[in-house]
Amino acid sequence: MTVLVLTLQGGVHRVVSVRRALDLMRRGKAVTVLESPAPPVRWARGAVTRPSVIYLTRPVPQPPRSPRPTKRAVLERDRRACAYCGRPGATVDHVHPRHLCRAEGRAPDTWENLVCACEACQRRKGGQTLRESGMTFRPGFTPHMPRHTGHTRLHNPPPEWAEFLKPTAPA
Ligand SMILES: [Zn+2]
Repeated sequence: MTVLVLTLQGGVHRVVSVRRALDLMRRGKAVTVLESPAPPVRWARGAVTRPSVIYLTRPVPQPPRSPRPTKRAVLERDRRACAYCGRPGATVDHVHPRHLCRAEGRAPDTWENLVCACEACQRRKGGQTLRESGMTFRPGFTPHMPRHTGHTRLHNPPPEWAEFLKPTAPA
């Protein structure tokens, strides 16, 4: 049994155990939004209504809306497989070359412009664009921003959480 913790702004913060939720509430750090339909929690001093959704009474720093495309993050997203040939790769390639991005006023280090590449493909492509090099991404591959950031991924959330998990406009 888990409890959904919302930020003061109404965003999803994390999921915690009932014990942890009750501890936050006891210390005045969180307030119940929705009680759980499950039976109350039994304590030495009696029964306490089980929370299902709580919100923090103080603002927490908002996590970045999307993780930054660091070398490590890009390699993980691409599972260390070369975006061009599919063989194991350990370097990150700028799809649209960095010097051209600079010249055109585009940001070079974006999720869409960074891919894992093997040494051979990296060398073959060099400072050229995809078209100039005559290379293509391997079938089915498109560089994109990862859809989830770890802690907001929920497996089988209880139905009563649905209205709290709707995407909200940034505060
Ligand atoms: Zn390759």
